[in-house]
Amino acid sequence: MTSYSFKHIWTYSCPKCRMSKMFKEPFMVMKPLDMNDRCTNCNQSFEPEPGFYFGAMFLSYGIACLVYLPLALLLVFYFDWTINSMLAFVFFLYFAFFFKLLRISRSLWAHLMIKYKPSRR
Ligand SMILES: [Zn+2]
Repeated sequence: MTSYSFKHIWTYSCPKCRMSKMFKEPFMVMKPLDMNDRCTNCNQSFEPEPGFYFGAMFLSYGIACLVYLPLALLLVFYFDWTINSMLAFVFFLYFAFFFKLLRISRSLWAHLMIKYKPSRR
């Protein structure tokens, strides 16, 4: 039984050892998906095969639908917002959290595909 940790997915920790970070720091807007090649702790490759993160694209679409669609419906049908103001607000949120969504979906994909093995030091 594999256990998934929301905290480690949210903070982009290495999916195998959860000790180091997947993405290069500090964050740079021009390179939002700049990743380290390997984990500095357990040497896990962060791109085990070419096109490894193709599936993360579908995750980001799914996450965006799960978050923004209920929000849009709530704003229009419960709070009586107009369609235009709802769209402006939802698009603002979407672009404000665009890079977070990209990285979260990559992190989630890696955590789903790579098995957690705590390293003993
Ligand atoms: Zn690691």
